Amino acid sequence: MIIHLKEDTSAKDANKIAEETEGKLIFNDQNKLIVTSSKKKTIDQNIKKYISSTHILDSDIQLSSRDYIKETRTVNINNFEIGGNTNNTLMITGPCSIESREQIRQSANLLKKLKLTTLRAGCFKPRTSPYSFQGLGLDGLKMLSDIRDEYGFNIISEVKDASHVEDVINYTDIIQIGAKAMYDHGILRETGQQNKPVLLKRGFGSNLQEFVQAAEFILSEGNQNVILCERGIRTFETKTRFTLDLCGVSFLKEYTNLPIILDTSHAMGYSYGVPDLTRACVAMGIDGLLIESHPNPSVAKSDASQQLNFKEFEEMFSSLIPVCKSVNRNLI
Ligand code: PEP
Ligand code: MN
Repeated sequence: MIIHLKEDTSAKDANKIAEETEGKLIFNDQNKLIVTSSKKKTIDQNIKKYISSTHILDSDIQLSSRDYIKETRTVNINNFEIGGNTNNTLMITGPCSIESREQIRQSANLLKKLKLTTLRAGCFKPRTSPYSFQGLGLDGLKMLSDIRDEYGFNIISEVKDASHVEDVINYTDIIQIGAKAMYDHGILRETGQQNKPVLLKRGFGSNLQEFVQAAEFILSEGNQNVILCERGIRTFETKTRFTLDLCGVSFLKEYTNLPIILDTSHAMGYSYGVPDLTRACVAMGIDGLLIESHPNPSVAKSDASQQLNFKEFEEMFSSLIPVCKSVNRNLI
């Protein structure tokens, strides 16, 4: 149950009610509310005087539920917005990993040429093998931050574990939580206690309920700027890296109020399929895309097979414009 407290409820009373209802209190300038387990369906008479409204939801998809907020939430990324009634589809691109100043400058120049706004590169890479390139870490974040100062882009990079959450929060404009970190409650809580947008990727072995409940951990800490990212799940199919769950995307659009970004690069795993898949995704009317691109994918230190070279990226990008138009979306 979501309990909206009256504006004049004091922090002391709000804490007392949260304790009595065993709920989580969100108490800040914008929100004064308590979220209890969805199993709770009634409230005691003695706290009714503090309450302006209650919302009873049928599962622990609560703050993210479309039954609670009936439209997609607006998420502000500095001077840009997605969700709400913006009709924006945000193109996020860049290499899987930042590898050097030269490489990231080449990527920055591609974005500038196409008038794109949001550069993504990983610094702390959640690799499957301990012997593979693990990322440039804090040095990489500082290089990205220099690029932001020079070009004015928004920067997105991923947090892999609790040891560097603070650094990623400080140096980026959107914090990415990777598929393997989706269940890390330390990361979910810490990113929930600040206000920068968080892009939460779906774990490849997670069902939709688990995915959205992970988002609830962030929302219930107070941060309302959560974006979901479908990036493919593991199925019996091995010819492609993962299987992009577009049925799941329809579910998320229908039943949740969070903007949705699709990552076709990690889903497909091979560059040849990324443009087709991306056009199909755009036709669904989504809030954004995450596409990996690299000046020379054949020498990329991570995810080499799936990154588009700049020519491929530019061709795909122009082909998306008419698809966006046909579903009334602005590609930004
Ligand atoms: C990535 O975005 O480079 C990445 C590692 O993705 P995922 O967490 O979806 O595997
Ligand atoms: Mn990658």
